[in-house]
Amino acid sequence: NKMVTSVQALGNIRVFCRCRPLNKEEISAGCASVVDFDAAKDGDLGILTGGSTKKTFKFDQVYTPKDDQVDVFADASPFVTSVLDGYNVCIFAYGQTGTGKTFTMEGPGQNRGVNYRTLEQLFQIAKERSGTFMYNISVSVLEVYNEQIRDLLSTSSTSKRLEIKQSAEGFHHVPGIVEAKVDNVKEVWNVLQMGSNSRAVGSNNVNEHSSRSHCMLCIMVKSKNLMTGECTKSKLWLVDLAGSERLAKTDAQGERLKEAQNINKSLSALGDVVHALATKSCHIPYRNHLFISRNSKLTHLLQDSLGGDSKTLMFVQISPSERDLSETLSSLNFATRVR
Ligand code: ADP
Ligand code: MG
Repeated sequence: NKMVTSVQALGNIRVFCRCRPLNKEEISAGCASVVDFDAAKDGDLGILTGGSTKKTFKFDQVYTPKDDQVDVFADASPFVTSVLDGYNVCIFAYGQTGTGKTFTMEGPGQNRGVNYRTLEQLFQIAKERSGTFMYNISVSVLEVYNEQIRDLLSTSSTSKRLEIKQSAEGFHHVPGIVEAKVDNVKEVWNVLQMGSNSRAVGSNNVNEHSSRSHCMLCIMVKSKNLMTGECTKSKLWLVDLAGSERLAKTDAQGERLKEAQNINKSLSALGDVVHALATKSCHIPYRNHLFISRNSKLTHLLQDSLGGDSKTLMFVQISPSERDLSETLSSLNFATRVR
């Protein structure tokens, strides 16, 4: 009894699935793993849904708990190179809280994730090309919580309301946010630290707060071809999304309900945009994707880096535990819609 759902992405969209290990608590509670990695090398992920039923999902890459940050970044790195070639790129991590979104993007401590490795690679390539190109790299760190944008690099104590505007050239930007110019990886590290420190400010439970907000790193690259004088601008978004888990009915009230509704709205807008892009060759006109993008701050911010000739990489993060089976299936189904 086998079902196959294809998540093989089309065109400029790639979907990678990463599964974290069972944690200590799950192991001591005797939790079983419901994930079958036998065909992980082929991009197939099996989920044991009960009895003898196995559902297979197909991805561009599947990472088992044994794969480390280096393995993961090796496959993400072509997207980073594309940025220096003038493309807009968006890399985001989607999944239930506790499945490793922050582990993949930020990385714990010195075991650095995609964000840091991306900037490291940008500087590396910029250096290699320094005979022909001059690059100018700057970074902004934002948080979107309850449909409000917060500048995590701002040192100002008065929090002004931040809005998204479109420039005459059609670029989306947030007037007034800090764009920190960075010249080397050390400066990057400081900026990233500053971003995560201010994320904690004003919330009594950092983990809880971060699971309900989208953390967004925007890297802007300006390049000048020293031979031709031609200048280009490209943008790379690295996004650690809010947890995708559904709200327990008992929690469905007040502030918590509003948060959940905003997360829901933005994640489904993201799903709609990516879905529209993946199927745009068939029916969905490009204009529709622009329209859907306006439905949430998240997709509105990402707009330049979703669609057109930009490149999108989505990490679907999952837990192996039988306890999380229904959230896991729901994340994998979200990824399936991308097709
Ligand atoms: P999320 O950001 O999705 O809520 P985290 O990144 O905070 O999840 O991960 C939850 C826990 O699982 C953390 O303790 C993290 O270190 C651990 N973890 C996640 N992914 C992995 C992995 N691939 N290998 C080892 N530990 C992991
Ligand atoms: Mg997290």
